[in-house]
Amino acid sequence: MNNNQTASYVKTVITKRYVIALAIIALLSTLALSMLHLVLKDTHSIAYVVNLSGKQRMLSQYIALDAHRIHHRYQDKDIETANIIKRRLERQSDEMLRANAMLSSGKLSLTEELTLSSEMNDLYFGHARIAKRVEAYANAAKELVRAETLKDMERLAVFFNTESDALLVDLDKVVAQYQKEGEAGLYKIQRTENIIYGVTLVALLLEMIFIFQPMARKLVELAREKELFMGDLRHQVELRTLHLERANERLNKLASHDPLTGLFNRLTFEMDMNLLIKHYKEHKAPFAVILFDIDWFKDVNDTYGHDVGDFVLSEFAQLLKEHFRHEDKIYRAGGEEFVALLSRISVEESMIIAQKIRRIVAEHAFNKGSIVFHKTVSAGVYHTDIHTGIKNYKNIYKLADIALYRAKEEGRNRTVLAQEVFHELHNTDEREKCLFVFEDSALHYVIDANGPVFEITGYKTEAFVHKEREFLSIVYEADLDVFQDSALAYSKTLRIVCADGKIKIVRLNIRQHNGTFIVEMYDAKSLAGEMRDALSLYNFNAMLERTNDFIYFKDENHLFTAASKTLLAITTAASVEELIGATDYEVFGKEYADEYYKLEKAIFGGKVDVAQEYQPFVTKEGKKGWVDNRKYPIKDVNGAIIGLFGIARILSDDFRESVIPKELKERWEYL
Ligand code: GH3
Ligand code: MG
Ligand code: MG
Repeated sequence: MNNNQTASYVKTVITKRYVIALAIIALLSTLALSMLHLVLKDTHSIAYVVNLSGKQRMLSQYIALDAHRIHHRYQDKDIETANIIKRRLERQSDEMLRANAMLSSGKLSLTEELTLSSEMNDLYFGHARIAKRVEAYANAAKELVRAETLKDMERLAVFFNTESDALLVDLDKVVAQYQKEGEAGLYKIQRTENIIYGVTLVALLLEMIFIFQPMARKLVELAREKELFMGDLRHQVELRTLHLERANERLNKLASHDPLTGLFNRLTFEMDMNLLIKHYKEHKAPFAVILFDIDWFKDVNDTYGHDVGDFVLSEFAQLLKEHFRHEDKIYRAGGEEFVALLSRISVEESMIIAQKIRRIVAEHAFNKGSIVFHKTVSAGVYHTDIHTGIKNYKNIYKLADIALYRAKEEGRNRTVLAQEVFHELHNTDEREKCLFVFEDSALHYVIDANGPVFEITGYKTEAFVHKEREFLSIVYEADLDVFQDSALAYSKTLRIVCADGKIKIVRLNIRQHNGTFIVEMYDAKSLAGEMRDALSLYNFNAMLERTNDFIYFKDENHLFTAASKTLLAITTAASVEELIGATDYEVFGKEYADEYYKLEKAIFGGKVDVAQEYQPFVTKEGKKGWVDNRKYPIKDVNGAIIGLFGIARILSDDFRESVIPKELKERWEYL
């Protein structure tokens, strides 16, 4: 039974039963009430009649007595007293007549009537003729009142003597009869009352059994039914809520996870990134993004089929899950690209983790049934310490992607740290600003470009001393041999922003030595040392002889002039273009310098590898060309010349004052 049915049942059936029960009780109560009313009325009539008949009896005695008194008063000639008694007798006889009329007719008052029983009728009108005798008795009393003579009085006294006793006996009978009838009536009423009382009790009992009890039972049943219904409803609601929650969870999981690997998907990555960027902007909490792309993954699909491809993706995801820190979040960015989000981590730590994963993947044997093979992965790492001015998620992803692309370009199975400069350099208008304003962390890039597996050595500069970056070991004297033996792999003039805010021009060289990379960082002071060493180390004449293959210097003077002019230009140049122009004009002449400048432009355009690895040259015969820097260790004279001009690109007053050799200083005016 549902809620509505219950309500209508209560309303109709229960109401009906209630009404019936109440009606029965009301009926019985009315009956009892009218019975009571009747009883009271009868009791009242009976009492009145008994009283009246008793009074009648008493009057008959008074009248007889007064009749004798009057007779005696007259005999004693006491007329006055006789007259007083007569007046009383008159009243008594009137009263007796009135009572007789009432009792014998049954008309007690205008409203009250009494039905005379046959016994009473018999007494009043039957052989006892009480009605008539009483009437005669009272009339005799009246006659006595009017009687004048003693004789009449005597006669009447005799009459009363005989009649009063007889009447008394009969009137006694009347009283007794009335009493008897009254008692019988009362008894009858009592009995009726008892019956009604009994009927009422029985009615109540029956109501209890047949109306109230079933009603109560039904109500209890309904309440229980309702409780059960509600309980069921509650249960259903709970069940449905649970289902909804589960469905929600499933939907959430579907929406936020990648079904194949179980990792978070790209959508989640984007949302997390946006949160992280917001957090970074507010609190400057550093974070890193590592982008992984499985190398030659297409080959897996092509060789072993898509299933094995999927298997590799899942297993790769598993490796990521196992080896990242607990707090790092890993996502499948799409296809065979994965990305990890590492909060509160330094550049070094993120590189170490990226490299660790790369190594673990390379060493891992993918084993699917009978097929066992190895795969490698490349990674691009973005870090907020390097790109302090991050803008948005796309920006960051692009930077990590460029780094990843470089890792692929450099031969795969490696990790590259995203360096702002390469990204920004694509915009040539921004060239100067971007290229020369470097955070000192720029060095990370250089280190990283070759991977942490390389041993890094170099010059400690003021900039780094200030930041206490001990990772650059000083090789200036102790490792000079290594330095000399190495070939230039990368070279760049940079203006760096030091931690104290000062701007310095430095020369950054990376040399390769037996597979080890050496980072050189020259500021004015360290350059001074290098220049001095270079000048003392090499015999310029010998140097000139050996260098003619590449660069044509007319004589020693030309070399020094060119070098000195270059140094001067470097310290005074207003812009980089001017600086490069001045240097190269001096050395190579305008025409050549223009070409070199174009090449530098190419460097700025991002083709750093090509440009920096080659040095333009011109021979004695006027032949122009490019020399591959990397082929010439500094020990080699060509390497020394190349190094010299590299060094010459940055100098400061310090150098001019303290480093330029005497011979040079003497020709200072020449510059
Ligand atoms: P590279 O080293 O340059 O990254 O080479 P690659 O072969 O990994 O790169 P490429 O982008 O050419 O190929 C990626 C392939 O990954 C192409 C696509 O068929 C495959 N791939 C993408 N998603 C899935 C996937 O869910 N399951 C499988 N089995 N293959 C996928
Ligand atoms: Mg790919
Ligand atoms: Mg790939």
